Amino acid sequence: MNFYTDNADLQYQLRDGIRWEAFVPAWEEGFRFADGPRSLEEARELYDACLTEVGEFAAREIAPRAREIDEQGVTMRDGVVVQPPALLRNIDGLRRMGVLAVDLPRALGGSNFPYSVGAGVLEIIARACTNTMILYAFYQGPALLVLRFGTPEQVERWVKPLAEGAMSGAVAMTEPEAGSDVGAISTVAAPEGTHWRLQGRKQFVTNGCGDVCVVLARSEPGSKGLEGLSLFVVPRKENGRDNYKVARPERKFVIRGSATCELAFDGACGELLGGRGQGFAAILTFMNEARVAVAVQALGLEQAALVAARGYAEKRVQMGRPIARHELVADMLLDMEAEVAALRALVYRCTALQDRITAGERSGGSESARAALGRELRDRTPLVKWLGAERALWVARTAVQVHGGYGVVQDYDVERHYRNALILPIYEGTSQIQALMSLKDQARWMLQSPWRLARGAVRVETPPGELGEAVAEMAREYNHALRRAITDGRGAAEVVVLAARAISGRGPEPDRSRMAYALLCAERLAQMLALTRAAEALVAHADASPARQRVATRYVRRALPVVRMQGEIVRSGDRSTLQEMGA
Ligand SMILES: Cc1cc2nc3c(=O)[nH]c(=O)nc-3n(C[C@H](O)[C@H](O)[C@H](O)COP(=O)(O)OP(=O)(O)OC[C@H]3O[C@@H](n4cnc5c(N)ncnc54)[C@H](O)[C@@H]3O)c2cc1C
Repeated sequence: MNFYTDNADLQYQLRDGIRWEAFVPAWEEGFRFADGPRSLEEARELYDACLTEVGEFAAREIAPRAREIDEQGVTMRDGVVVQPPALLRNIDGLRRMGVLAVDLPRALGGSNFPYSVGAGVLEIIARACTNTMILYAFYQGPALLVLRFGTPEQVERWVKPLAEGAMSGAVAMTEPEAGSDVGAISTVAAPEGTHWRLQGRKQFVTNGCGDVCVVLARSEPGSKGLEGLSLFVVPRKENGRDNYKVARPERKFVIRGSATCELAFDGACGELLGGRGQGFAAILTFMNEARVAVAVQALGLEQAALVAARGYAEKRVQMGRPIARHELVADMLLDMEAEVAALRALVYRCTALQDRITAGERSGGSESARAALGRELRDRTPLVKWLGAERALWVARTAVQVHGGYGVVQDYDVERHYRNALILPIYEGTSQIQALMSLKDQARWMLQSPWRLARGAVRVETPPGELGEAVAEMAREYNHALRRAITDGRGAAEVVVLAARAISGRGPEPDRSRMAYALLCAERLAQMLALTRAAEALVAHADASPARQRVATRYVRRALPVVRMQGEIVRSGDRSTLQEMGA
């Protein structure tokens, strides 16, 4: 078994779906490094070899331990958080393979692989065991934050040990009273000599028991909201003593092998990371990458659920034939396959955009080209998180259904997949927050240009033919619905004022009550656009093989009516929720 070589769709995306030549030469600075690949072909062979090795390890070692990790869960003994031993064995194996930080530079203990390769590794591990994937992500994730914003001394002190697996990290934003509302953060940091002292509590911190935590705290007294926040690197131990307190890990029915900790900072000593007062902008870069990573987590989980459901349906016989040969089950299996392929197409579209942007930064490429790519990525980031989270739940739930009564029995893996899917729409910004972000971004983009206001904010690239036409229609539906939601009940003069504000970035915030209908429609609009972007990415490669054509056709034929239906609801102007709210 090998979770890379047994997955034709993943191999397609990572071998043929990405235009490696568009960024790998810049990534490897013209292949000038003695310890790096000498050509594009060699680089691609290296990527493929790494994915094959991880695929083999994931199938042989990680997946068989997933149930044990879930059953062991996280406990606390003598004031110390105890992670499942089987989980630590998995991480140890990945550490020994040298793949804990594949996207980091080689000089810092990484492999200098593009994000698309890192996402492939993440997907394979997530398919084998969600809990292992989560802890795995907390080596490279915090390291990337320090690499991006830290001083050379901070990079030296933290990045290498994280990349090599000598320590693990955490990132703490959430507080008891500040979840989706990051601006409500009340943890404060005050300067003291060359360091800072932190006071406050953080909640729900993944791997909060790790060796170092990047903390978002209020550094500017009197500041409010997202202003006046800074990032701090806070070591768990200072001079051999606890620098902050790790309270008991949460007892959860999802991702039970992942330590979700409450942290208490009572004068903890920290180092400023990045610019003072620039914390929110800095953490946003991490959050955007983490949102794509959560979509990858969803993708791995979907793949695991699909494979389990297919395998079961082929063996289980009812009414004289395998259930896979009963129409309703066959339909479920094919819909699951199409969902997985669509999410995968969108995920690797996003990672390839990340790669091209980073390559452009490294080679000093044109700023306007980077800005255009940045806009494409920004458009898709909340959507891929939304789609991954919401559709993984559907895929996992369908896998349980295919298993009938055995689906809810712990001897089978699908009940665990279903439980673990439930965290996806909650962390790294809930599905509702992704929807609001997408709405805000698309509305501003639409209002900034009279042409887009008239013709539509979203454009899609489509091939000629039935599939391309269907995707174009999905985009038209979205554009109509978005315009309807934004201009709801407003006269032309009011729309002009909104547009002027979007263009200049100045002027009073529009009255919230006047935005209520758009806010009410946000998640319907996000679903419409997520399906459109996924279909666009899938259709782009539909003609690569009859199998891809079949899956793309199925997806588009099911997605288009959903988009039309949501568009119709938005355009209906049904304000009954707002009336109930008295808005
Ligand atoms: C297992 C786990 C691991 C986590 N790991 C981390 C971590 O490592 N670091 C970290 O900092 N945080 C972490 N979190 C916190 C996580 O990001 C938050 O739980 C999440 O952002 C939601 O915040 P909340 O739980 O306070 O819910 P709330 O913000 O109170 O939301 C409750 C509900 O209200 C909705 N809602 C809230 N505001 C709005 C709005 N304006 N419009 C519409 N709907 C709205 C939400 O969508 C949700 O449905 C983790 C959480 C869990 C459960």
